[in-house]
Amino acid sequence: MKKGQEIQVRVEKLAYGGQGIARFENQVIFIEGGIPGDFALARIQKIKQNYLQARLVKVIEPSPLRQDAPCRHFGFCGGCKWQNLDYSQQLLFKREQVIESLQHIADVSAEVVHQTLPSPFIFGYRNKMEFSFTANRWLLPEELAQPEVKKGYALGLHVPDFFDRVMHIEKCWLQDDTMNDILKFAQEYFNDQRFSIFNLRSHKGLLRFLVIRKSFSPNQYMVNVVTFQPAFEALAEFARKLAVKFSNIASIINTVNPRYAQIAFGEEEHLLHGKPVITEKIGPFEFDISANSFFQTNSLQAENLYRTVRDYVGSGHQLILDLYSGTGTIALFLSSQAVRVVGFELIEGALQDAYENCQRNKIKNCEFIAGEIRQTVLTLNEQPEVIVCDPPRGGMHPEVVKELLRIHPEKIIYVSCNPTTMARDVKMLLPLYRLKEVQPVDMFPHTYHIELVVKLERM
Ligand code: SAH
Repeated sequence: MKKGQEIQVRVEKLAYGGQGIARFENQVIFIEGGIPGDFALARIQKIKQNYLQARLVKVIEPSPLRQDAPCRHFGFCGGCKWQNLDYSQQLLFKREQVIESLQHIADVSAEVVHQTLPSPFIFGYRNKMEFSFTANRWLLPEELAQPEVKKGYALGLHVPDFFDRVMHIEKCWLQDDTMNDILKFAQEYFNDQRFSIFNLRSHKGLLRFLVIRKSFSPNQYMVNVVTFQPAFEALAEFARKLAVKFSNIASIINTVNPRYAQIAFGEEEHLLHGKPVITEKIGPFEFDISANSFFQTNSLQAENLYRTVRDYVGSGHQLILDLYSGTGTIALFLSSQAVRVVGFELIEGALQDAYENCQRNKIKNCEFIAGEIRQTVLTLNEQPEVIVCDPPRGGMHPEVVKELLRIHPEKIIYVSCNPTTMARDVKMLLPLYRLKEVQPVDMFPHTYHIELVVKLERM
């Protein structure tokens, strides 16, 4: 087998990460863009010890699972790689991937994993989108052939794997029509010599990102222009015109990121119109979301996720711990299930939001402990009946898992966005716990990302 060689293969299944898997002469081949059932021509790009990496050159016989992707940027934008895969199949594949990660652990059978809970909306489901400004637009192949399309300015999304390549986005299917209209308005407004664009190499220029947020209930929008320097005067007219055109924009903000790292996070915040927050209702609770707050990106499905956690936790408890509590959403949802809920969180700002969320919803039985969980959990000398944990992608530190084993609560409910690290951590818990149920929840239609809730009971 050589690099550049072209081979014909049948794609068999999907790998975690979204690539197709095929076999050729007993070698495993990962094929970007391959859908199970495709008979395809693939070109070998990399030869590794245990597998080959290939690119899809041509689909010779398309899989019956294929469908046309509605987005014209599909295949170039990395946002939603599975738009060409039927939604019911996406749900099946997500469940299969959870089963596969768990099967590496002894005695975990597929029956404990429920069907993936579908997202209420499969398009327009996101409550937040970040678009980047560029002065050096990356053109799609079809645009290269259109002389009227100019390089230069664009406000859009990144080409995957290239931090400095941004393509113009006409319509993003993951956001709703109003968000697309706001994007279009901003694209046209900022196409003007008065505004400079931040350059990643020279570190000069002003505009960096346009972040649009939405709450579903009530239907409100927030627009945040992230700049390299404060720009509230330069943006005053934009804010005025935008607010006139879109009556349900409740907040227009300028946040400033004076650092070189290209992230849409502002250290300084200037209010240009309305209020500094928008409000989202999830179940019976209301949450204020500010420009920098973390919030689950699929609001409607977040409610289903938190309900699943609450069902698994059960009621009538004295004490529940919520590890990696963030802005306290899970703790609030569990406040009716116990006398007390104690959250543990590293970031001070998130902790403050958590207390404010409790106050706003008149919840008095939640408290939050600041700090690195490895240290803070050790300080606890009370016995909780249930521990809920929702760690970041990397999972839990082994010392934290050991601490859970030492505390030995009746139930552990593990919320995860990464089946691989979840399986690793659950394996450490299995000597003392039985895995009762797993509920995959689809928070991110058309992407390979999986969210899941695991219920473990003490043996
Ligand atoms: N449960 C929350 C958010 C979870 S995101 C929700 O549903 O909204 C994971 C959280 O873990 C983040 O807020 C992050 O700041 C926190 N975190 C990450 N590592 C941590 C650590 N070592 N100690 C404490 N908190 C940590």
